[in-house]
Amino acid sequence: MADIIDTATEIEELQRNAALSAHRRNRNAVSAERCEECDEPIPELRRAAVPGCQTCAECQSVIELRNKQRGL
Ligand SMILES: [Zn+2]
Repeated sequence: MADIIDTATEIEELQRNAALSAHRRNRNAVSAERCEECDEPIPELRRAAVPGCQTCAECQSVIELRNKQRGL
């Protein structure tokens, strides 16, 4: 049982590190003009606030929710 928890924690940490380094790498990335999920234009404010973003805030929250549910 402890092994399973250790492995899950390890995977979580790897994913977090990958996300963090991707975030760092994307600091100067160009934000998408349209959401890659729903094809809606991404507001200029969000594109400026989240450099390198590829989705609108709505889709992003859905994706994050989905990832969270997958992680459980
Ligand atoms: Zn969207």
